[in-house]
Amino acid sequence: MQVISKIMISFLILFIIFTILEKLFPAIRSKRVFRDGFKLDLLYWVVAPTINAAIKNGSAIVVIVLIATILGLKLDDDIVQGFGPISQQPAGLVIVEMLLLGDFIGYWTHRWFHRQRLWKFHAIHHSSEELDWLSSVRVHPLNQAISNSINVAIMLALGFPLLVLAAYLPFILFYSILLHANVSWSFGPLRYVIASPRFHRWHHTSEEQGLDKNFAGLFPIYDLIFGTFYMPHDKQPEKFGILDKDCPTTLWGQMCYPFKKNSNKAL
Ligand SMILES: [Zn+2]
Ligand SMILES: [Zn+2]
Repeated sequence: MQVISKIMISFLILFIIFTILEKLFPAIRSKRVFRDGFKLDLLYWVVAPTINAAIKNGSAIVVIVLIATILGLKLDDDIVQGFGPISQQPAGLVIVEMLLLGDFIGYWTHRWFHRQRLWKFHAIHHSSEELDWLSSVRVHPLNQAISNSINVAIMLALGFPLLVLAAYLPFILFYSILLHANVSWSFGPLRYVIASPRFHRWHHTSEEQGLDKNFAGLFPIYDLIFGTFYMPHDKQPEKFGILDKDCPTTLWGQMCYPFKKNSNKAL
């Protein structure tokens, strides 16, 4: 019961903060608070901290045990505190390395989900046609669990401490709420350094010039290096969503969508 009230209070605080931000700094002025897909996204906010979190955490535990077994590591020592050269470094450096490597892994995992069979799992996240902060949690649980598990497996195998990783992953989730918000921020001179809402909203556009661009979650430098950066100075994306005409608009339909035959990425 306490957990449910904490989730509800957190949601209300986010609702107030982002409703104000989206009113003060709108990327698209005409967007309504109670827009199309509002009820569906509300349902995702129920599913995200419960079912999605349980699947994500369950798969992470399996990965942790597997890595410990394969590499012969002690769970309560090597895994929790880290091991090898990385664990000998100052904490600040470990955090910076984790952010850089985590986003590098995230960049390539994200690109992988934009391809062929896996696209249908990720298409759910791209299906919002009126993108805002509320849409950020519209994610298929397997998309989240697989991306998260790959990150956890690589980090732990390299010796990063689970203690730091356990703080990094929720931070990324929280930051992603801001990235989807209907605000115009590009972070000015830092536009190439830190991912902004404008940067990620171009990733969600259905307009031709923004397709398969801006995969990074934190550092646009990876998109610059690998040739997928797109963020014009004078323009905001206006159209969002996917061209897959058979993508359902109900929660259950979207959960089952990746397992349906005869639907292809149409972007
Ligand atoms: Zn994507
Ligand atoms: Zn997104």
